[in-house]
Amino acid sequence: MDVKKIGVIGAGQMGAGIAQVAAGIGMEVFLNDISDEFIGRGIERIRKDLGKLVAKGKMAQNDLEAQVSRIRKAARLEDLAGADFIVEAATEREDLKLSLFRELDRVARPGVILATNTSSIPITRIAGVTRRPELVIGMHFMNPVPVMKLVEIINGLATSAATTETTVSLAERMGKTVAYSSDFPGFIVNRILMPMINEAIYALYEGVGDPEDIDTAMKLGTNQPMGPLALADLIGLDTCLAIMDVLHRGHGDKYRPCPLLRQYVDAGWLGRKVRRGFYKYEA
Ligand code: NAD
Repeated sequence: MDVKKIGVIGAGQMGAGIAQVAAGIGMEVFLNDISDEFIGRGIERIRKDLGKLVAKGKMAQNDLEAQVSRIRKAARLEDLAGADFIVEAATEREDLKLSLFRELDRVARPGVILATNTSSIPITRIAGVTRRPELVIGMHFMNPVPVMKLVEIINGLATSAATTETTVSLAERMGKTVAYSSDFPGFIVNRILMPMINEAIYALYEGVGDPEDIDTAMKLGTNQPMGPLALADLIGLDTCLAIMDVLHRGHGDKYRPCPLLRQYVDAGWLGRKVRRGFYKYEA
């Protein structure tokens, strides 16, 4: 199936990134969030990111304008009726995603694939609330979407081969490389990454080191581009906690979220997106 118009739900860091990359390959994008203001912020984020390329001489201003103009505000879910593929990238909460998929099933045209960018929630459970489980699939982009090459593809129990084929081909058109994961909580990347981040938070909690030393040790000691606490701040501490909770429920006690992570989320210190997490960030 030739996908030309894509609906993106959620205009946060992931949704905006997916919209940016889709518009970058010439697709028409319908961008949805809970308010017009949030969609506007997502589009502003895209404009700012592409603006950096213009400033470096890697993109012409005209091309920036053309790319941004392919992204339309879709304030109501009904505005996604014109899309021929939909990817959901709203907040990582199971109740929210289940209710969104019930609604999406109602508004999307028959035959349209409903993909989710969930980091951890079982695809089969999300597919189960729709009347089109064969058309529901996990399409897990990495952060930041325009930079990171990987997309994890996760089939639910009922996902059809044609759905997988269309989704993989779209990911490849977007310049991504796919890895397949079975439908276990956290899939591959977060099942392995999140315990490391959680352990780094335990190390901070127990006074093993301060954030700078923990990150420097892991960066230079294990050759990673950024330390685990800086990475947690980039992902969003609310998202990290939501993923750890799903892993804990699905895989047992070794995935218990660190109490300090829960405290940071309670305090509203969610990382870069609010300029305060394990580090403080300039406006
Ligand atoms: P975010 O907090 O930056 O953005 C989430 C957006 O969803 C917000 O703008 C919010 O207003 C919107 N939203 C909430 N309820 C909605 C609704 N009912 N309808 C439409 N929009 C709604 O979060 P994010 O980091 O972009 O994460 C989004 C999804 O992507 C989550 O499922 C997350 O697990 C997944 N993900 C995140 C990362 C990461 O590094 N942050 C990486 C891969 C996947």
